[in-house]
Amino acid sequence: MSITFTKNKWEGPKGVFIVSPDLCKGCGLCIEKCPSQVIDWTKETGIYGTPIVGAKRIDRCTACSICVLVCPDAAIDVEKNKM
Ligand code: SF4
Ligand code: SF4
Repeated sequence: MSITFTKNKWEGPKGVFIVSPDLCKGCGLCIEKCPSQVIDWTKETGIYGTPIVGAKRIDRCTACSICVLVCPDAAIDVEKNKM
């Protein structure tokens, strides 16, 4: 049996940024570590009742996946566009 998580998606020129509200605990690490200042807080709350993040400036996203690597809860996924 597999578990399906809710996914919030933002589509940009380089790829798709995906956050699961079921996993994001609102630690803010991804906001700090994104080199392009793409990520910011949203008005939505996650599974722990804390604010969750979104790709507020998706146009700047390079699909580098640093945010995926730093998230301690595997709440982010980035799908890089094919060239
Ligand atoms: S993939 Fe890279 S540029 Fe895009 S939001 Fe994540 S850390 Fe920022
Ligand atoms: S690093 Fe992960 S858990 Fe922390 S705010 Fe970002 S998406 Fe949420």
